[in-house]
Amino acid sequence: MIIKPKIRGFICVTAHPDGCAAHVQEWIKYVKSKGPIAGPKKVLVIGSSMGYGLASRVTAAFGSGAATIGVFFERPSEEGRPATPGWYNSIAFTQAARAAGLYAKNVMGDAFSDDIKAQVIAAIKADLGQVDLVVYSLASPRRTHPKTGVVHKNCIKPIGAPYTNKTVDTDKGIVSEVTIEPATEAEISDVVAVMGGEDWELWIQALSDAKVLAPGAQSVAYSYIGPEVTWAIYKNGTIGHAKDDLERAAKAIDAKLKANGNGRAFISVNKALVTQSSSAIPVVPLYISILYKIMKARGTHEGCIEQMQRLFATQLYNGNTAKFDEAGRVRVDDLEMIPAVQDAVRQIWPAVTTENLEAQTDIAGYRSEFLKLFGFGLAGVNYEAEVEPHVPMI
Ligand code: NAD
Repeated sequence: MIIKPKIRGFICVTAHPDGCAAHVQEWIKYVKSKGPIAGPKKVLVIGSSMGYGLASRVTAAFGSGAATIGVFFERPSEEGRPATPGWYNSIAFTQAARAAGLYAKNVMGDAFSDDIKAQVIAAIKADLGQVDLVVYSLASPRRTHPKTGVVHKNCIKPIGAPYTNKTVDTDKGIVSEVTIEPATEAEISDVVAVMGGEDWELWIQALSDAKVLAPGAQSVAYSYIGPEVTWAIYKNGTIGHAKDDLERAAKAIDAKLKANGNGRAFISVNKALVTQSSSAIPVVPLYISILYKIMKARGTHEGCIEQMQRLFATQLYNGNTAKFDEAGRVRVDDLEMIPAVQDAVRQIWPAVTTENLEAQTDIAGYRSEFLKLFGFGLAGVNYEAEVEPHVPMI
């Protein structure tokens, strides 16, 4: 099959196996180039196939030589249709890790379910004994609650009042105004159920009950805060509400892990980046396009892998003491949030139009990063050649 990008709204419905593998290789090469990290040795990554979770897994394996178990929910290929990119990423990662002599196991399925938690615990018991780091990096459109069976849906909406701002159709390059109606109370609690901290707590409880957390084990989950221009839709909206709940859970989990050989749990606030999840949030892609332009010009731009390598090497491990902000969070969004960068965003924001989008923003960079998520635009990959889309999970 010859596989080309097919973009539908904010998602690409095709993915290129060789391109995804090349993307994973780029990340491995980057982590290796930064030198070894005196870091974790047995790591569970929940949400390991894309974005920040995949970058965490690559960093743990190729920075610290860690054995990794990855949990993810991806769709395999079907007749005439490639698999989702996280499927190919996970295969490429696993092949590379095993070739380097590292243990790597994949558990494919719904991380919110009791069944997947049980499968992971069985794998840890059988192969690793215990884990010393649990990375929680899920971003999901829905969650079936394991106790009630209720399906909670994720929706990105403001709270309290409608929100109007500029947004960009990244595919068509059209800048327009969008108004998003506020969430209902039910929608707010649904988003908290999907993206809040309850499932992270259930994971840690299950792992702790099964005695598969090593003494001193740590856990980290990821959040975003961002600048005021996005607050109505992010920090003060439904997703921000869920992230507040994630912070509540971090404190509860931290207390539990402290009692287990002085471990800890915390939130790392990461930079805004092009991922499948962030591209679905209105307004945010325009902000990211402007941000990329400014940060690239300053030489401070980072992607998922640079962010996670820096988190592990300078905050969590290597003998460093993590620097926490006033709310107890680690901040690797520091370079995004410095005043000079945000002042520049504020200057550009009102001036952006469809006509000057290319000049005022890094929409070109946004598009190429977006295509890369699906394995397109990677150097050295022949996109005109036939490629086998049906690859079994390993
Ligand atoms: P992503 O969409 O790139 O990856 C999400 C991962 O979750 C994938 O591996 C997917 O397979 C997995 N997943 C989703 N539903 C699942 C399920 N039911 N069972 C098992 N696995 C499932 O997401 P991302 O952007 O890397 O986000 C990860 C975390 O980082 C989120 O908490 C997000 O809020 C946070 N974050 C993202 C950004 C950003 O700009 N993208 C910035 C800061 C923080």
